[in-house]
Order: sequence, then C-alpha cells, then structure tokens
Amino acid sequence: MRCMLCESLSFAHICSTCQTTFLTPSIYKRKILNNIEVISFYKYSEIKNLLHTKHTDLGFYIYSILAKNSLLKFASEFEFEYPVASVAIDDHVKSGYSHTAILNKSLSCKYIKPKVNKLRANNRVSYSGKSREFRLLNPRNFELKNFKEKNVILVDDIITTGFTLNQAVQAIELNNKEVLFCLTLVDVSFV
Ligand SMILES: [Zn+2]
Repeated sequence: MRCMLCESLSFAHICSTCQTTFLTPSIYKRKILNNIEVISFYKYSEIKNLLHTKHTDLGFYIYSILAKNSLLKFASEFEFEYPVASVAIDDHVKSGYSHTAILNKSLSCKYIKPKVNKLRANNRVSYSGKSREFRLLNPRNFELKNFKEKNVILVDDIITTGFTLNQAVQAIELNNKEVLFCLTLVDVSFV
C-alpha cells in the first residue's frame, strides 16, 4: 500500500519515516475538575486530518497507529504501586470498531488494566459542534460498572471544553474510585 502522508510504498497506512517525523509525541497538560490533569500527545493541527478518519473504515488503522506512537509509549514508561484501571469514553461499538477502545487497549501493561464497556453514557448525544448551553442542558449521564481497581485513568481521543471528561470524572468519583489523570491524543487548546 502507499503511505497516506507521503505516498511512498509502505507496509502500514502511515510509513515508518512519517510516523517518526509526524507522530513522535509531545506532552501537553491541562487541568480539569478537581484539579485533575489531562495529558495530551499532539497539537490539534498536527493530526487534525488523521482524526477525521475516525468515522471511516480507515480510522481503525489510523487510530491504531496513533495509539502505538503515543499511549503505548506512555504506558511502557508508567509505573505505580499497584495496577490501575483505564476506562475509555464512548467505547461502545458504533460502526464496526470504537476508536477510543483502540486507544485504551494500547495502554495494557504491568500497571494498567484497560477495561471495556465500563463507562456507559445513558445519553448518547454528540457534543461535536454544539454550544456550551447545549452541552450543559444535555448531560451524558455516565454510569460506571464495577471493577476491582480503585484508581482510574480516563481515556478519550480529544478534549475540547473538558465538559465530557468532567462528567466522567464525577461518575467515577460517585463510585468511590479515584481518577489519577486523563489521557487524550489531542487537546484543542494547543493548536
Ligand atoms: Zn510516509
């Protein structure tokens, strides 16, 4: 196949040279509710076009490549006293695969145990392109299913206002668990 970015022959949808050139992650940080840190790996402008593949079949491969370059590397360097859970926003399957489930799965390591389908939004409304008022009036009503780990890493692909992650944090804390931090590919406040 040909690399999506440089069009040279490649074994993956993005060639290894382009992965090194364009997908070497940085660390961006923002704080949300209760002083919880959100760590992101790319500027929005850097991978905007790649994120747009998420509603297509190509998205599965592109999100796998993004995850391998960022969250997987993060997990390989992560240490904690005991294993923690990682939970993705919206990891239910919409069109064949869940893009956030791909990200979450890549965190699997000695200290991180990815969970599947543990955080359910009872309101599946999309906030994409919607106003702050609309978001406030339409909470996602997250519900957490139980698992044994006490500490949680929250995973999403993109943080815009932080409203979704805030609601997820609240749902997790209501279940007497603690959110250590959140991981997203992109924070749109870093353009
Ligand atoms: Zn390339």
